[in-house]
Amino acid sequence: MKIYGIFGYPLEHTLSPAMQEAAFEKAGRDAVYLPFELDPLHFRGVARYLARTPLSGFNLTIPYKEAVIPYLDWVDKDARAIGAVNTVKRVGSRFLGYNTDWEGFVRGLEEEGFRISGKKAAVLGAGGAARACVYGLMKRGVRGVKILNRHPERGRRIQRGFKRLFPGPSVEVFPLRSSFLRPILEEVNLLVNATPVGLGRERHAWSDASAFPRREVFICDLIYNPAETLLLKQARKRGCRTLNGLSMLLFQGAKAFEIWTGRRAPVAVMRQALVKALAREGWKGE
Ligand code: NAP
Repeated sequence: MKIYGIFGYPLEHTLSPAMQEAAFEKAGRDAVYLPFELDPLHFRGVARYLARTPLSGFNLTIPYKEAVIPYLDWVDKDARAIGAVNTVKRVGSRFLGYNTDWEGFVRGLEEEGFRISGKKAAVLGAGGAARACVYGLMKRGVRGVKILNRHPERGRRIQRGFKRLFPGPSVEVFPLRSSFLRPILEEVNLLVNATPVGLGRERHAWSDASAFPRREVFICDLIYNPAETLLLKQARKRGCRTLNGLSMLLFQGAKAFEIWTGRRAPVAVMRQALVKALAREGWKGE
């Protein structure tokens, strides 16, 4: 039996075990996928001796996507550019790192028929998820990205980091305020919320009706629980096309499965497992 898992802290609500175990079962693989909730001290202890663990591969979530890198034998170029690894595969005694978040995000948009090439996007947030999204948009030929963040310096770090890799598309950074967002929404085709605002009841600049998008703007929120954040609800009422974060979660997991097994992921089964696991938490998405 092969052992896979996910490292994070905290890790109470992870849906990855349900999704990956459903995929292994469908593929007829004798494998388990376990949650490893380790505090930073214990994580470092395990990371130093990865080769002594029985793990065939694993995922990483907050706060370990960057911390794992020094312990790996090789990191692929996308993960290096993003500066974060969320998927590791063992080959013999070597541990290889990948980032599948950016592709998960892009595949979610593509599944909805949104073509990124030549479009203009605005991304709210400049944390790890925003970085993966901006990278994915760049990889798919976006024309320009406007990053809005509470602390703009973090956005400027993304801007500087990708400048050499992607000299073509423009990247601009603004404070995350309604006065900046309003004019931006007049010109972009896509708005992505990559902040946790929307998880709770917090209201923000972009939920102010005057700042609200034209119906031509595609609205994506990386949050999937609740299935429809206030942002998505208002966007839907406006007539915008909307997408929550479930597809990003699904497709990053599907890509991880493909890296581990070399087989095409059973996406429909994985989606079903996610929805079922969420429904157990009272989620009302489908
Ligand atoms: P992160 O690295 O901690 O970054 C959080 C970002 O949100 C930062 O830009 C931060 O701004 C901003 N932010 C936090 N609280 C805010 C507030 N009250 N008002 C305005 N901005 C705020 O987190 P992350 O990993 O990027 O995750 C961001 C969101 O994406 C989370 O909701 C997470 O659940 C979601 N996500 C979804 C998926 C998926 O598969 N669907 C994958 C990854 C993440 P400052 O820099 O100014 O602090």
